[in-house]
Amino acid sequence: MTLEINSSLANVLPSVQEFLRNDKQLFIDGQWVDAAAGETFVTYDPATGQPLTSVARAGAEDVDRAVASGRRAFDGEWSLWTPAMRQRLLFRIGEAIYEHAEELAQLEALDNGKSAGVAQAVDMVWTAELFEYYAGWATKIEGRTVPVSVPWAPGASWHAYTTREPVGVCGAIIPWNFPLLMAAFKVPAALACGNVVVLKPAEQTPLTALRLAEIMADAGLPAGVFSVLTGFGDTGAAIAAHDDVDKVAFTGSTEVGKLIVDAAKGNLKKVSLELGGKSPQVVYADADLEAAIAGTASGFLFNHGQACTAGSRLLVEDRIFDEFTQGVAEVARNSKIGPGMDPTSDIGPLVSEEQLNRVTGYINQGLADGATALSGGRRHGEVGYYVEPTLLVDVEASFSVYREEIFGPVAVATPFNIDEGVQAAANDTPFGLAASVWSRDISKAHRTARAIKAGTVWINCHNAFDAALPFGGYKQSGWGRELGEGAIDSYTQTKAVNVLL
Ligand code: NAP
Ligand code: MG
Repeated sequence: MTLEINSSLANVLPSVQEFLRNDKQLFIDGQWVDAAAGETFVTYDPATGQPLTSVARAGAEDVDRAVASGRRAFDGEWSLWTPAMRQRLLFRIGEAIYEHAEELAQLEALDNGKSAGVAQAVDMVWTAELFEYYAGWATKIEGRTVPVSVPWAPGASWHAYTTREPVGVCGAIIPWNFPLLMAAFKVPAALACGNVVVLKPAEQTPLTALRLAEIMADAGLPAGVFSVLTGFGDTGAAIAAHDDVDKVAFTGSTEVGKLIVDAAKGNLKKVSLELGGKSPQVVYADADLEAAIAGTASGFLFNHGQACTAGSRLLVEDRIFDEFTQGVAEVARNSKIGPGMDPTSDIGPLVSEEQLNRVTGYINQGLADGATALSGGRRHGEVGYYVEPTLLVDVEASFSVYREEIFGPVAVATPFNIDEGVQAAANDTPFGLAASVWSRDISKAHRTARAIKAGTVWINCHNAFDAALPFGGYKQSGWGRELGEGAIDSYTQTKAVNVLL
């Protein structure tokens, strides 16, 4: 299709322009192919609402093709690769991501709306690191020898050991908020363990996954080991329900996570889920207030609040509540709103008109319920899907803005009294993904970390991730752990072998 020239493309790299010039196909069995039904969709730049390029829309037949090619690779050539060969491949991919970081970051900024500079410095560096980190794991996935005492054979001699084997064909279904990084939370760990992956990126942000497939193919990826199926929710649903898929790894909304669990029942495939959050940031009066104001503001504004770990509930000790919230509101008001391709922008557009309406809908509901906006409270401008960074106070625990994941640059702040404690409020949520605690009292901070039911607790920081630290949710924020050694558990199954000598 011929698309109107998008004015925001004027200052992007020639390689990005070149990538966007052609219609995008599916990557199946090492080949670029159209969808079997010939369907396509358009992906847009949320800073302008202009189309970027046309992308193939995978249907059930394409899912079948990708899964079958994955199965062939898993049972065939890929099973003959040694751990050291997988390690070298993953290192080469990591290196190539560093080399192409600027280009990938620009593609991400155009497709998602996020800052190109941040995408290059954070998303792409971390994506490359994840490939390198799991490259290292490929040669270190070990079983154990186990002393046994089988009761029916007294005096017999045994040699028992465990091995860690790959799960098989893994579906990976990911969201639009950190498109390439969310692929990197899954793909390198899965491949390091010897699995194959069928990846379904979000419909809003299909582009960097396709560029990743090119990079991986150039690095020497064998056919069928990694497929990319761009499409809509029905593509994801077909992967989750497929009888020859052994595991599905999902990141996205809790609502769709539950649908994945239902769909997985047919063949009882393994499921890992990284879902929503409503993460508290607990601020004690003895915190370094300057650092805590800046840190908590960025804790809910990073990626324009489109982060599953967004610290969207500020629980602030009552003695400092007014001073603290005024400080955070000032940071929010001083944030510069603008396109991701402008290096001076702090807050970019939300990913889509749907998310714009969803986020402004939450803000309006909160104001109607009786909340006060200390900063923001509205859409910004009329072109692009921008929302003002918004801090709401006078919020009750029953309000939807307090209880539900908004996924935009919006936080609520409520006071707590030190004698009553903060544990009940911090845990008053069906989610349990992350939290942060801000205090100079090291014992109090650790005690609070222990009391919070969440998979990650940061102290005097927020959103400080590392490839080696396990990540995942308590309660309705998910099943299983990604990153670190947790992902190795998630992408292997254990076999016990017991030998009567
Ligand atoms: P979503 O619907 O959960 O989408 C996540 C992924 O699942 C996308 O690839 C999506 O495809 C796919 N999908 C949708 N329906 C599916 C189904 N029935 N079976 C299998 N896969 C399916 O999230 P969203 O609609 O983009 O965002 C809605 C809300 O979810 C956000 O406002 C936010 O609250 C939350 N969210 C959370 C995270 C997180 O990291 N925890 C990330 C994104 C969104 P399509 O893109 O084609 O729909
Ligand atoms: Mg959806």
